[in-house]
Amino acid sequence: MIDNEIELRKIEKEAGEDKFLLLRETAKNLVFGKGSPNAKIMFVGEAPGRQEDEQGFPFVGIAGKNLDKLLGKVGLNLEGVYIANILKYRPPENRNPNPEEIKAHIPYLLKQISIIKPEVVCSLGNYATKFFLSEGNADLMDKQPGITSVHGKAKFVKIQDVQFKLIPLFHPAAIIYKRNLTPLWEKDMEIVKKEIELNSE
Ligand code: URA
Repeated sequence: MIDNEIELRKIEKEAGEDKFLLLRETAKNLVFGKGSPNAKIMFVGEAPGRQEDEQGFPFVGIAGKNLDKLLGKVGLNLEGVYIANILKYRPPENRNPNPEEIKAHIPYLLKQISIIKPEVVCSLGNYATKFFLSEGNADLMDKQPGITSVHGKAKFVKIQDVQFKLIPLFHPAAIIYKRNLTPLWEKDMEIVKKEIELNSE
């Protein structure tokens, strides 16, 4: 049996040693992923922020604290999920990554997904959702529907040869400022959990 943890470590090392990976020069640390290598649910955000860049782990700042809280509300924690970003390095001043940067980082995200083989990938927020809905084509992201119309709706996505079920969720940072999104997030997570139960029947 392939040990997912060992495989993930190999890819993390490869990313860390990739001298040409865009945004490496301006970032402090590689931010690869955290959580269970055998998770059934994988959460994917846009890119590391300042705290994540400092610490080398995704979702450890204010958005991450809220994500932990939201996961707790639906009975989940890091032992049962895996969390990563599309971009493995922080863009300077948190600007949106450009298409070239996205293209350069895609292979690492796809390798993470194909090792973990989660039953559901949850995009966190508008940016990550548009990335997946455009099937990884950064040039088509602008044409995708926004998170408000697609959250909680399952869709099969295929990027290169990696196929998975996507369920978009609101970004935990947005929920801090719009508390009325919390019940919607919880409802969407019930949909995610149902998908997983259906798969294990
Ligand atoms: N927002 C993201 O999308 N990712 C992080 O890691 C932190 C904040």
